[in-house]
Amino acid sequence: MKANCWYGKNDMRVEDVPDPEILNPRDAIVRVTLTAICGSDLHLYHGFVPTLEKGDILGHEFMGEVVEVGTGVKNLKPGDRIVVPFCIACGNCFFCQRQLFSLCENSNPNAPEAELLWGHSPAGLFGYSHLTGGYAGGQAEYVRVPFADNCHVKIPDNVTDEQSLFLGDIFPTGYMAAENCNIQPGDTIAVWGCGPVGQMAIRSALLLGAERVIAIDSVPERLRMARDGRAETINYAEVNSVLEALKEMTGGRGPDACIDAVGMEADGHGLQYSYDRAKQAMMLETDRPIALRQAFLACRNGGTVSVPGVYGGFIDKVPFGSVMNRSITIKTGQTHVQRYMRPLLERIERHEIDPSFVITHRMKLEEAPEGYDLFAKKEDDCIKVVLSP
Ligand SMILES: [Zn+2]
Ligand SMILES: [Zn+2]
Repeated sequence: MKANCWYGKNDMRVEDVPDPEILNPRDAIVRVTLTAICGSDLHLYHGFVPTLEKGDILGHEFMGEVVEVGTGVKNLKPGDRIVVPFCIACGNCFFCQRQLFSLCENSNPNAPEAELLWGHSPAGLFGYSHLTGGYAGGQAEYVRVPFADNCHVKIPDNVTDEQSLFLGDIFPTGYMAAENCNIQPGDTIAVWGCGPVGQMAIRSALLLGAERVIAIDSVPERLRMARDGRAETINYAEVNSVLEALKEMTGGRGPDACIDAVGMEADGHGLQYSYDRAKQAMMLETDRPIALRQAFLACRNGGTVSVPGVYGGFIDKVPFGSVMNRSITIKTGQTHVQRYMRPLLERIERHEIDPSFVITHRMKLEEAPEGYDLFAKKEDDCIKVVLSP
């Protein structure tokens, strides 16, 4: 089959690789009909995530048709059309029982490596380095889905591939970010970053009852899309101070909650490096932690900072005194996608939202390397690329 493989910094290649096979009774094989490039794939593309190996198949946002199931999968059959969540979860363990699917303790075979860096291991993820399991991703013609009985949502005929694809990542990710803000009537939510996750967070905050959403970015077409979604916008390149602008827009008090949809994965130098080395690596990423620091400082007293943006290691100069003295709540985590897929599919079926609004580029799987390049450089007004095998 054809698959989009990582070969190093800015080096993606579509290659012929062996077809995946059922390895465990709870596996399924899916023929991919649509897949996407996620903003967090760019950190892999840029070489910022350790433990990737040459030839690894990327992609954690995909859907398709079930072609084969293991003997342990009772709720799927060949021909079923499904979206697969990016986090692999067994459905039975301590964390899955608590709906904390991205923390499943049975899906990361490389947990000891993750424990070295993070203290404990999160779940395995599709196409996202060996630190999170080394699973082949979905930017391919076929993919093996482990724990398939707990890692899918079936899509009805009246919902298209483009409408449902993002149930596997960015829609639940933006939605959980908004849900973590504990939105009350009248609330104003500020969102840093108007990439795909930021766009989903903006619309989710409004779905969840926010009165106002203020979106912060510098890319004109992203700001335009945010305004199309009923956000007010701040172009941070055009104001002296984002903090002052937000104060002015909120009567001096600050937003009730702030969402950092920018993130940072600058832990690019491997697990074995010392803390100081990691810290040094973070210092190279000068612009990224600015969003999180601003979010902490901008948030009103007693408010919440919600972080869907992906962080890899250590961050420097976090104004924790501000967080403590002003009673700021921090909520974050990899999305517990399985918890959201069905309810958000229902919102799509009720026409409350059509997540396909975010798609700007439709390409063939063979064109994945060009797609990464376009998305990374934000050329041609690129906000979201989908790929068809
Ligand atoms: Zn993603
Ligand atoms: Zn589990």
